[in-house]
Amino acid sequence: MSQAHDGPVLAVNDLKMHFPIRRGVLGRQVGTVYAVDGVSFTLEPGQTLGLVGESGCGKSTLGRTLVRLAEPTAGQICLDGQDISRLTPGELRPLRRKMQIVLQDPFSSLNPRRTAGDSVIEPLSNFERLTASTRRERMAELFAKVGLPAEAMRKYPHEFSGGQRQRLGIARALSVSPRLIVADEPVSALDVSVQAQVINLMMRLQQDLGVAYVFISHDLAVVEHVSHQVAVMYLGRIVEIGSRNQLFSAPRHPYTQALLAAAPIPDPLKKVQRQVVPGDVPSPAKPPPGCHFHTRCSQVGPRCRREAPVLQDTAGHAVACHLYTGGTV
Ligand code: SF4
Repeated sequence: MSQAHDGPVLAVNDLKMHFPIRRGVLGRQVGTVYAVDGVSFTLEPGQTLGLVGESGCGKSTLGRTLVRLAEPTAGQICLDGQDISRLTPGELRPLRRKMQIVLQDPFSSLNPRRTAGDSVIEPLSNFERLTASTRRERMAELFAKVGLPAEAMRKYPHEFSGGQRQRLGIARALSVSPRLIVADEPVSALDVSVQAQVINLMMRLQQDLGVAYVFISHDLAVVEHVSHQVAVMYLGRIVEIGSRNQLFSAPRHPYTQALLAAAPIPDPLKKVQRQVVPGDVPSPAKPPPGCHFHTRCSQVGPRCRREAPVLQDTAGHAVACHLYTGGTV
């Protein structure tokens, strides 16, 4: 495990990731996509923050920005107490040991011409000179950790099933003993039975190794299962954040309530009609004024259309909605 400090592994303050929209041969800027627009939270070591919301709400952009695959437009990302938001690629390089990302499609991070063993050990060999025997030992440890047989080290990525490939992706991320893994829809492409195996593996590894996860998913049942804290994103902003129990037992924001009402019932024998959150997610290039959710909210009032609510925290459960800020909507 990389060297730790006492506070949160991740502290994010007013983070913004805006993308210019350019047109014409001169590339004139004609607009801005507000993909992440003022996000703040902290994540303690060994804990999981689940990040939910519909597609287009900025979850994946936030995940990529957290591990500095992109330079934020504004705000701060502190990893183990160190502000990494403005570091250059060269300055970030040694810190890549502390933070890793696991993607929905692990195939993209596995070189089809390299054996699974070589792919899994690659991040570590970027940091350490390994003798042939240490390399073999580390590979075997990593394969054992993620429940793959040692013989699999000599196979190529195409010889693995989807679930096994995701195990390889996790082993690759773990090779450098990170403090933080951002997992972006890590089980969405897998069959339900395989999903459960990979999720249980990730949870066991967290208990054994103390790694923290930002777990991005549109699947609320999965997020409820894995998370200690849950944040709900809508059009680049966190609209509600709290403990798993607070979010799932007593959701406050109308968007969270609508998402939960729309979630499919996990029991296929219960033939309950699946609902959807009414209306479409507006464009993040043209977010509605006031409360971004007002165009779809069943409880909207005049104040919601002109004034943006800010996150108000009560006992660790924060919500951005005028229903909870006193006065009227
Ligand atoms: Fe709905 Fe108004 Fe609350 Fe926004 S602020 S979620 S529009 S009630």
